Amino acid sequence: MDLMADVTSLAKRRGFIYPGSEIYGGLAGFWDYGPLGVELKNNIKRQWWKDMVYDRDDVVGIDAAIIMNPEVWKASGHLDAFTDPLVECKICHQRVRADNEEIKKEHEKTHEDKKVEWTEPKSFNLMTEVFLGVTEPKQKAYLRGEITQGVFVNFQNVIDSTRIKLPFGIAQIGKAFRNEITPGNFTFRSREFEQMELEYFMRPDDKEAEKVFGFWKKERMAWYVNLGVKKENLRYRDHDPDERAHYARFATDIEYNSPFGWKEFEGIHHRGDWDLGRHKLIYKDPDTNEEYTPWVIETSGGVDRAALFFLLDAYNEEKSRVILKLHPKLAPFKLAVFPLLANKEELINKAREIHQILSRNYFVAWDSRGNIGKRYFAQDEIGTPWCVTIDFQSLEDDTVTVRDRDTTKQERVSVDKLPEYIENKLG
Ligand code: ATP
Repeated sequence: MDLMADVTSLAKRRGFIYPGSEIYGGLAGFWDYGPLGVELKNNIKRQWWKDMVYDRDDVVGIDAAIIMNPEVWKASGHLDAFTDPLVECKICHQRVRADNEEIKKEHEKTHEDKKVEWTEPKSFNLMTEVFLGVTEPKQKAYLRGEITQGVFVNFQNVIDSTRIKLPFGIAQIGKAFRNEITPGNFTFRSREFEQMELEYFMRPDDKEAEKVFGFWKKERMAWYVNLGVKKENLRYRDHDPDERAHYARFATDIEYNSPFGWKEFEGIHHRGDWDLGRHKLIYKDPDTNEEYTPWVIETSGGVDRAALFFLLDAYNEEKSRVILKLHPKLAPFKLAVFPLLANKEELINKAREIHQILSRNYFVAWDSRGNIGKRYFAQDEIGTPWCVTIDFQSLEDDTVTVRDRDTTKQERVSVDKLPEYIENKLG
């Protein structure tokens, strides 16, 4: 089994993820989410927002603009230091990341008998330039390379408009853009992607920072485990001092054991007072009138990388079926409703009625084609946790069968108990 190939093919075939602008040959590093992919991504984001914002009284959310005054990026250090090392093949001028030996070796093979020489590494800025306005010279700006700066520049606005006091967090989900030199591994390294981030502001205090850092490190790992990712496929990796981002005092990645190696999909960073300091923002304690620059602990996850790793982790092949064992909270459809036979009007009408009731609260699939076994398998492959079948007994006693994706066991449940049954299962 080639897990990466199987998941990529399933993603395309069933409408999770398509290559971006495919009918024009695609564009490296850009992907489109299909009808099921958008549900998976929305479920990840919704769950994250619930757990990080709604369930906490010390966190508020914002949604900042993608394009900001370029001064923001000068101050944050991104125009000078947000770089990757790049080398160029002296034969065909193809550019790749200098630190990616795998890609370099692959490229060398394409020149078969010739010996490939690489240029000295050069720093390559990852910020994507855009030009604004209609008259020349147009104003140069950037698509944000990380969503974080939108939080820092609104630090004072949030305090003034909410009266929130330190310690507190600001959460945000949104698109970021990086001019990656070598996009690849499906959506893992894209040029357009989504981040979900929390910036947690606190008093500058080493002991306290260690505690807060440790807290979020644990919380974020637990979040993925609670959403079903196998523990053995997750690990922490502390950054060495020389690999930390320009703003980080210390940093840990949460990594996933992917078919292409252990890879980061969330970073926990202690950014100290780097950003607020560079933007010349201070905090005035409303009780003591003391003034200082707060420190920040950040949790920065990628929605697309999470979606990819959830899919890889959930993919299972059994004798006669493929099952996507996604956590029910993440599954695109929570349920599927089937009339046992497609040519019996009473069954169809009853099934439609039940589909309508369930659709008030959940995204529910409908399938009336072919034999019931095939319909189950089609739902297993996209991760639908429960299939509800309406048969002749349903017409008599208002009960249905509910079939579980993972165990394939069926239970008879009365229609009026269905919502409660599902809520209990969802937990
Ligand atoms: P990498 O070392 O893989 O380039 P990074 O350390 O630059 O990642 P961060 O700047 O810490 O990544 O970004 C936070 C999160 O944003 C990452 O953990 C990842 O989930 C996501 N992310 C970053 N770059 C990309 C990308 N090119 N494509 C998809 N997601 C990304």
